[in-house]
Order: sequence, then structure tokens, then C-alpha cells
Amino acid sequence: MPKLKYYKTEREEFKDAFDFKLNDNQVNLFYHKLQTKYKFKQYLIRKGRLGCGKCNSYRIIIGENTSIGVLAHEVAHAIQYKQNNYYMKGMRFHTKKHKVIMGRLINYINRHQDKWLESENKKQEKKLTLHQNKEKNKQELKDYKKTNEFKIKKLMEKENKLLSRLKRTNTILKKVQRKIKYYNNKVI
Ligand SMILES: [Zn+2]
Repeated sequence: MPKLKYYKTEREEFKDAFDFKLNDNQVNLFYHKLQTKYKFKQYLIRKGRLGCGKCNSYRIIIGENTSIGVLAHEVAHAIQYKQNNYYMKGMRFHTKKHKVIMGRLINYINRHQDKWLESENKKQEKKLTLHQNKEKNKQELKDYKKTNEFKIKKLMEKENKLLSRLKRTNTILKKVQRKIKYYNNKVI
């Protein structure tokens, strides 16, 4: 089927998927989930014209303002590559088989996307809470350093260090004094 005609029929067949627009986070998350499940090796690049995509043996490009339909179309190509050991020279891409893979991908995304988004949100929240706690601890430490309790603690540490140094010095001093006494009393 000629390329343009293929695009037109797939847009009719998977209308909901092409109407379902994705933001950047969703594209990255869904791509990652599809890659985990289908284990194709292409990495994702985000750039280019609105709602467009491209796929070759090592990467997928997906433009801005994209949809589940575009994502599934390109990932279906990645799976075709994988099924042919990443060698598609002379092969046809826009086949019935491509459409079947695409439909499967769309179903997979639709079945799981709520769960994926929910767990992603939880992850983000956890990250934020961790960060907030860290900031809180930092501030608490800063405040603690201003208290008398902290200053006394630091001074006592210093005092202990000086006392032990004093003790060492005293021991050496006594030894020296003992030797002086010894040589004074020694009879030649
Ligand atoms: Zn295509």
C-alpha cells in the first residue's frame, strides 16, 4: 500500500489512538514501558515536526505534540526490525503485519497507562518528599549550630583534646625530671 494511503487508513482505523495526545513525560514513560516489554534496541530522540515520527535500526525520532498512534506506529517498526535481526533493506514496512503489531501496542498502552502514570506520580512524590526532608534537616542543623548546647559541646570536645595533650606532656616531663635526678645522684 502506498505510504500516504497507509497513513490515512491507519488514522481511520486507530482514530482514538491518534486523537490521544501525549505530553513529554508520557512519551518517555510509555516508550520505556514498551521497550521493557518488547526489548527492541532503538533509543528515543525527541525532536522535529508536530505529530511526526521516524524509525531506523538504531533509533526512533518522535516529534512534539505526539499521540499514542504515532508512538505505536514507530515502535511497531522497531519490532519489525527486531524480528528481522535489525536488517530491513528492501523490506516493506507498511504492511498488514505492521498494523497488527501496532494494534497490539495500542491495546497494551491503553490497558496499562493508568497504572503506569499512577506509579510514576508516586515515584515523583516520594522524590519530592525526600528532597523536602533533606532541606528541613539542613535547616535544623543550621539552627542547632546556633544554640548554647551545640557551642558547649564543641568547647568540651576541645577541652578534652587539650587535657589529653596535657597528660601526655606531663608524662614526658616527669620522665625528664626523673632522669635529671638520676644523673645528679650518680656517683662516678
Ligand atoms: Zn511508518
